Amino acid sequence: MGILEKMRLDGKKGFVTGGARGIGKCVATALAEAGCDIAIVDMDIAEAEKSALAIREATGRDVFAICCDVTNPEDVNAMVDAVLARFSRIDVAFCNAGICVNAPAEEMTFDQWKKVLDVNLTGVFLTAQAAGKVMLRQGKGSIINTASMSGHIVNVPQPQCAYNASKAGVIQLTKSMAVEWATRGVRVNCISPGYIGTELITARADLVPLIEQWNSIAPMHRLGKPEELQSIVVYLAGDTSSFTTGSDFVIDGAFTSF
Ligand code: NAD
Repeated sequence: MGILEKMRLDGKKGFVTGGARGIGKCVATALAEAGCDIAIVDMDIAEAEKSALAIREATGRDVFAICCDVTNPEDVNAMVDAVLARFSRIDVAFCNAGICVNAPAEEMTFDQWKKVLDVNLTGVFLTAQAAGKVMLRQGKGSIINTASMSGHIVNVPQPQCAYNASKAGVIQLTKSMAVEWATRGVRVNCISPGYIGTELITARADLVPLIEQWNSIAPMHRLGKPEELQSIVVYLAGDTSSFTTGSDFVIDGAFTSF
């Protein structure tokens, strides 16, 4: 069997949080194209249903939507139960839902801080923990978390201390779980994208004017595309990455390289 065949995900089952749009939807499409049945998990159930239908029709895989707020442990446990009820196992968990709030550190409210940490860090913890329990019982599974280059550098000029702190937390959480579960068949990795042209940025009137400024210092002078994150997640989800755990993949067009 050639390497591309070995990288396929036929027969695997998984879920993607924040799967309704943006990076989550794009990566869920790639996982389904590679043969994985997928639950599209999002708090925006209307958009999640639309995305699930589109991916199902495009790939012929079993793709369905689940409404879940990743900050709520009961929601997360119910989501994992729903995935198990449909698929009987969980091979792949892409813990990707995230938000960004911009405010100077001295003005950031407790509510703003807490919301960002709840979604980006606690949400990833709850989701990875719930999926991890299932995978540990199975003796096998791959968890991929979405961190950010903001877990490595402080982006400018927009002030986003909560976001940066939350993403640094995701990287260390990923490594911690990877070490704890390394001998038990469950791998945990994360991706750290640079600026990617999704609605996280393009739907924000305060951020759109900054794109030119970011691009002027970016070595490739452009934003990344969600499609440019697909293959790394497919790789991490599959069995050819069996020695890859506790790793953080920075995909940023060299933004953090200088
Ligand atoms: P996006 O805003 O386009 O999509 C995020 C999705 O997450 C939405 O569908 C939203 O409904 C969902 N979501 C938000 N809060 C949720 C919650 N509590 N429970 C369940 N779902 C929730 O954003 P995106 O650009 O696709 O970002 C995806 C991930 O990638 C995030 O973790 C983000 O921080 C990270 N990231 C994005 C960029 C970028 O430049 N776009 C760069 C680095 C990292």
